[in-house]
Amino acid sequence: MISYGRQDINQVDIDMVVGVLRSDFLTQGPAVPAFEDAVASYCGARHAVAVNSATSALHIACLALGVGKGDIVWTTPITFVASANCALYCGATVDFVDIDPGTYNMSLERLAEKLAIAETVGTLPKLVIPVHLCGQPCDMAGIYALSQQYGFKIIEDASHAIGGRYKDEPIGNCRYSAITVFSFHPVKIITTGEGGMAVTNDGSIAKHMRLLRSHGITSNAAEMNCRPPDEIWNYQQIDLGFNYRMTDIQAALGLSQMQRLDEFVTRRHAIAKRYDQMLSSLPVLTPFQHTDSYSGYHLYVIRLKLGQAKKMQRPVYDGLHAAGILVNLHYIPVYRQPYYERMGFRVGYCAQAEQYYSEAISMPIYPGLTEAQQGQVVFALREVLGS
Ligand SMILES: *Cc1c(COP(=O)(O)O)cnc(C)c1O
Repeated sequence: MISYGRQDINQVDIDMVVGVLRSDFLTQGPAVPAFEDAVASYCGARHAVAVNSATSALHIACLALGVGKGDIVWTTPITFVASANCALYCGATVDFVDIDPGTYNMSLERLAEKLAIAETVGTLPKLVIPVHLCGQPCDMAGIYALSQQYGFKIIEDASHAIGGRYKDEPIGNCRYSAITVFSFHPVKIITTGEGGMAVTNDGSIAKHMRLLRSHGITSNAAEMNCRPPDEIWNYQQIDLGFNYRMTDIQAALGLSQMQRLDEFVTRRHAIAKRYDQMLSSLPVLTPFQHTDSYSGYHLYVIRLKLGQAKKMQRPVYDGLHAAGILVNLHYIPVYRQPYYERMGFRVGYCAQAEQYYSEAISMPIYPGLTEAQQGQVVFALREVLGS
């Protein structure tokens, strides 16, 4: 069986994790700050806050930007549900901006149109969450310019995109956003088992996220501004936070994986390039890559040219699964999830997202995928398509 994504764990990773297991601290030790420093310096961001998932990172990122009841948050419909759910956790309402038919990221034109309308009716968003789908960066300069015009904040959901670059700078430097979030789930580019991180250049936002990740508790006397610290106990809860901490076991794995991040992304590019060539004669659309961007290539999504292909998406998906090729679909438009439909969203809300949803298939891509396996994948696709 060949799945669409898979972690790559070597002996160094294992040794790093075992080292923590034999040490004094399984959590709240030195590995977490070391991992944070490694990611911050790789990305060129001033601060990094490690947490137990990207979902948690998105949640505390929204809270740190002041998102709450009555606020409006916009994201793309073609993303994992967590990019939208984070706003709901804070009591805000969510809306969706249709995708660009070329990059499958949030469309800058649709965003500009929707903002112009929202301004006239008083429903401007407080926050927009662009998602670098598949690892390909969004048009951040354009989104940033709109944020200056309309006064919204930006969180980049870069769960697919660590190791990628935009205009020759690393994703995560937050040049165009308040906060960037990464995921370290095993299918993502580097892994900590479960885990996530929020990076920012703003010290007060970083401080607030650190507080929220650990119950809203501080042990810094200078932050205990409500009343003086108790004499015996050296901490105070000054906000309502969560236990979203990453363990040192996870951070050690992450630190080790960071050593191979560039190697992983280079390998993903080589696989993508090979697919581009091998699939060129099939009735499928291979991923467009904008010249401004260097993708992290978390996903390699093809679109069936339904006019030319003899089969629809579902039989292609089923045929590949029958051949042991566990392709996937990223994603069902978030607003078509039953939970969102209950909020009033309807089929057809975003036309381009719906079109993409009916044609897209995520092909296997991960560092350990061999050329022979890739050949097998393409052979199976050719068979299933009957071409
Ligand atoms: C995986 C993913 C998340 C959530 O990541 P977790 O670490 O599993 O919480 C959020 N957004 C996107 C776009 C993702 O792909």
